[in-house]
Order: sequence, then structure tokens, then C-alpha cells
Amino acid sequence: MKLSRLGEFGTIARIAARSRGPGEEVTVGIGDDAAAYMPGPGMSSLVAADMMVEGVHFDLGWTGYRELGRKALAVNLSDIAAMGGRPLYYLVSLGLPADMDSAGLDELYRGMEESAAPHGVRLIGGDTCSSAILVISVTIIGEAVPGKMITRTGACPGDDIYVTGTLGDSAGGLEILKAGARGEGLGASELPGVNVGAGLRARPSENIGAGMAYLINRHIDPSPRVEAGMLLARSGLVTAMIDVSDGLSSDLGHILGIGKMERASGGKLGAVIYDKVIPLSGELVGVYGRGKAVRLALHGGEDYELLFTARPGGGDALAGLQDMAGIAINKIGSVADGGGLLLETAGGKRRALRPRGYEHFAR
Ligand code: ADP
Ligand code: MG
Repeated sequence: MKLSRLGEFGTIARIAARSRGPGEEVTVGIGDDAAAYMPGPGMSSLVAADMMVEGVHFDLGWTGYRELGRKALAVNLSDIAAMGGRPLYYLVSLGLPADMDSAGLDELYRGMEESAAPHGVRLIGGDTCSSAILVISVTIIGEAVPGKMITRTGACPGDDIYVTGTLGDSAGGLEILKAGARGEGLGASELPGVNVGAGLRARPSENIGAGMAYLINRHIDPSPRVEAGMLLARSGLVTAMIDVSDGLSSDLGHILGIGKMERASGGKLGAVIYDKVIPLSGELVGVYGRGKAVRLALHGGEDYELLFTARPGGGDALAGLQDMAGIAINKIGSVADGGGLLLETAGGKRRALRPRGYEHFAR
């Protein structure tokens, strides 16, 4: 059934009926003017919002509604993870085309619930309006122990710089999808194990390997590092943290106060990153070769890994966290007292690394 037949209130009722329900600390859920919940005693509340717009963040030619829902929630979970917080609730504001089918809406919420449920996160409200294109804005609410919350601003000269997982995979996957959409082959609609929407003009003869499937999946279905974020916060070792959404060169700049966003705590820091220790997946290197893989890792966005600084000497303790967090943690460089962001390549040569990650309104 088209949403135009369901109407706004029919649409909201359908969403409410299919969600997991609010949980007992929610005293008012969907259906009133605002939701109400009991905050944990002595906890700081965290609130973040992240929007996904058709034609800017996604293309329905290469992602399905369910994957889109999963990602819309995942990028918000990642923001809470980057503060070292525990995610609790979410609200969803939707701009929906009137000719969208209600089955698509169901899939969208199924995807969001798939991302939310493993973390115990529940839907408590939202807003619904009609729109020429699909817009999904999720607001997430979480909590953190006040003294243990980690912001972008605590890095000091001498701190080590770490990242979870591997970098560049999402950007590598996006390039494959874009090439497929241009009709250059490397399409994804026939990939085994990758559930992408129909409409890609993939060449049926193209033999797309598991490596490409992996990269595409990292773009379409990123994993927020919620457990790792909470463990890192609890460890007391971490001085500043951010999730890698725009790209390493840009997001590290935010921690250092380099680039357009000034560091809230004042003066600018510098950093040296060592290119040979940037964690790359075997799949990324296999598909693109090492040189391009490193460039994708430095500047490509949407990996949703955690990038953080820690006091020197925390290496052993952080290594111990990897098993509990279920994700690799690698040191990639260290913070300096000014001097900009430098990349050290093989042979010890250093060059300036400019923030070249994704930026809206950039021309
Ligand atoms: P109001 O007119 O006060 O903004 P609405 O009619 O927009 O209220 O919403 C009614 C209830 O449905 C509210 O509890 C709101 O949070 C919830 N809601 C509206 N749209 C959505 C949505 N897309 N997803 C989840 N909850 C929604
Ligand atoms: Mg409303």
C-alpha cells in the first residue's frame, strides 16, 4: 500500500505497532507530545542526531530499505560510542515520498531495529512528513558516567594515537558501487552474500570476488564500535576520541584542532602518522593495491571506527582490551606540540597530510 493511502497517522500507527515497545524506564512512549524516561541516577545524558538524505548519503539503486535502516541507526550508535557512552533510546524523523510503499517503511524500521536491538536501544518517538526525496534523521539518546565521558578535546602532546578495526574499506566499497552505477562493471547486484537493492547496472558476466563484496558490505552496513567505546571510556587511558565518519585526515584534525573546527581547549596540536602501521584489510589491499589502499584509509569516510588518543605507556592495557571489545586496536602515530599533521612514509620521510575527508558544502 502507498503511504499516501495510509496517511500520516496511519503511518505512525504502523511504525508504533511494529516497534519493540519502550521498556519499563520509559514512562511515556510513542503517542504523546513528548516521550519521557527515567534517567539513570547520577548519569550524564548524551544526545546526538545524524541525518541521511537520498542523493547525498545513499542511492536507492544500490542499497535496500533494510540496509538503509541499519545504517541510519548505526551511524548514530557510533556517535554515542565515540563519547564512550551507552546508547538507550532513539527517535526517527522521516521525510517520506507519498508514493513510497508501506513495505519499504516496514523494511526501514526492521533494519533500524536490527541495529538497535543488540544494544538494548529502543524507539521512543519521531516525526513524519511528506517529502520529494527520502530523508531519515535519527536522534539518539544515551548515557555516560560523568567523569568517564570522552570528548574530542582532551589530547596532549606525547599521547599515542590509536584506531579500532581497519580504515578505508567503506570508501573502497563506495568506489565499487559508483563504478557499477556508471555501468563500468564491478556492480553489486549479483554479489553473493551482499544484500543490495535492485537497479544496479552490473554486468552479468562480471566476476566479482569476495574481496569486493566485503568492501561493499563495509560501506552499506557499518558496525558501530559501541562495546569498544564503553570499554575504552572505562579504562581511564583515553584522552580524546572521535568516530571516523569523514575520514582519518579530517577526523584526526578535529581532535588536534587542525582544519576548520578549532579545538575547544585552545591551541593547536600536531601529529605524526606512520603509513606502514595504518591498519588495512586484506580485502582493501587485494582489490586496490597498497598505495591506493593507504590513500583510501587516510581520506575515505564512513568507516565508523573509533579514533582516539591515549597517554603513552597504555599499549599493553589497550592490547588487553581488544579481546573484550572484539575488535583490533592499533597504534598509528603520536600527538605532537604543533607542527601540523604529518605522514611518515617508508624511509622516514615526512610530509604534510591535509584534511581531505568528506565535507558538505565544499566546492
Ligand atoms: P506532534 O503533532 O505532537 O508532533 P505527531 O503526531 O507528529 O505529534 O506524533 C505522534 C507520536 O508519534 C509522537 O509520540 C511521535 O514521537 C511519534 N512519531 C511520529 N512520527 C514517528 C516516526 N517516524 N517514528 C517514530 N515515532 C514517530
Ligand atoms: Mg510531529
